[in-house]
Amino acid sequence: MTKGREKVFALAVVGTGIHGLHLATSAVETGIVSPENLLLLDRYPENLFLWDRRVRNCCMDYLRSPASHGLDPRFPALRRLMRDPGDWTDPYHRPSVPLFRRHGEDRIRRFLGGAHRITGEVTAIDRDDSSPGRPFRVALRPEGPDRQYRSYRAAAVILAPGMAPPCIPGPFQGLPVPSDGVERVLHVHEVRFDPHRIQAGEEILVVGGGIAALHLLPALAERQCSVTLWRRDPITVHQFDSDPCFIGPRCSGEMRRAGTDEERIRLLRRNRRPGSVPPDLYRRYREDLDRGRYSERELQVTEAEVIGARVCVRGTAAVGTFDRVILCTGFADEPPARGLVKTIAERCSAPLAEGGYPRAGEDLAWIPGLYVTGGLADLVIGPPAKNIIGAHLARRRILPALRRIIR
Ligand SMILES: Cc1cc2nc3c(=O)[nH]c(=O)nc-3n(C[C@H](O)[C@H](O)[C@H](O)COP(=O)(O)OP(=O)(O)OC[C@H]3O[C@@H](n4cnc5c(N)ncnc54)[C@H](O)[C@@H]3O)c2cc1C
Repeated sequence: MTKGREKVFALAVVGTGIHGLHLATSAVETGIVSPENLLLLDRYPENLFLWDRRVRNCCMDYLRSPASHGLDPRFPALRRLMRDPGDWTDPYHRPSVPLFRRHGEDRIRRFLGGAHRITGEVTAIDRDDSSPGRPFRVALRPEGPDRQYRSYRAAAVILAPGMAPPCIPGPFQGLPVPSDGVERVLHVHEVRFDPHRIQAGEEILVVGGGIAALHLLPALAERQCSVTLWRRDPITVHQFDSDPCFIGPRCSGEMRRAGTDEERIRLLRRNRRPGSVPPDLYRRYREDLDRGRYSERELQVTEAEVIGARVCVRGTAAVGTFDRVILCTGFADEPPARGLVKTIAERCSAPLAEGGYPRAGEDLAWIPGLYVTGGLADLVIGPPAKNIIGAHLARRRILPALRRIIR
């Protein structure tokens, strides 16, 4: 649709991670939108950029979730691609990271050729109440030297901005970068972190005892680094990071019946397992500890200081000086894209729930035509909302609603 000289896209998707791409490809596949009327917006130029970085950064080789959880809505799709024994691991036929990536690439190629993709930070969304159909106006600050704001119009928008920022514990906040310019303290999920830059023989402190840490440790040991793990809590072992019961009707009904935001948040916290690790990874970790590949302490970090090119870290039961500190401390416990969510709430009079979450309906519409997925859908979908299967659950709610809006 073109209004005056300005194109109105049928659908704009903010975020081209697993969630945004699952929904965008599914909307095209089901004929709800043509690629030419689809606008994809992301602050990074490559699709799945943050996914790629994060799995690379923690040296993860196989997914935690089963083969049925892919970008394709059909559960057997990923499994059908498995040919070599290295393509999956048991239990649950979990796909290898390269196989999952090939599967994603294939789906993007099949459905998104011809879609418009713009790189930049989405900073605001307004509802254009003066126009018939009341399309949205999406404001974007592009990357590169010309950082002039641009805006795009779309009849419907899906917000898929991913995860909250990495959690940086207090003692590590605001540490100076040493004079050689090499950042000695980085979070494993930060884009600037690159495990391949670590030199053989470095003395490294890993903080946190969750899945990212336990994937990373063997890779560091293989580089002949001297590796110490400090973790605040005992390691907890679960196959999945949220209770799978919430994928099905029994527990998701519990979420729906929860009367208040507080109750929903309580259900979320009780049935998510942040920081947990699957049994096979834990077994490997224990074996490596027994073989002396790394050492571990259970303690709370209380102070950190950069001294020259080293970092001195003090904990409740130990003190040490290291070449590098890698924080594997998960993500902040808050909804993603806080600033953007607040701006949209103000400009579109969209209601906010407890904790700054969008108050979305059962069809994940925050306001008519504006949908949320991933962490923003936590209070509706429940514990699996951020996972790959959370994108499938969001699709089942959003697509029928979109079909009514986009004619
Ligand atoms: C190391 C690791 C391993 C994981 N393994 C699994 C697994 O095996 N199985 C599983 O189910 N889950 C797993 N997860 C959870 C996983 O993160 C999600 O399943 C999935 O990656 C989330 O996808 P997403 O699209 O919501 O987020 P993201 O991949 O973070 O994508 C969000 C996108 O939105 C963009 N964006 C955000 N805000 C803006 C803005 N204002 N303007 C423009 N663009 C914006 C970002 O640039 C990004 O590209 C894992 C997570 C991590 C960190």
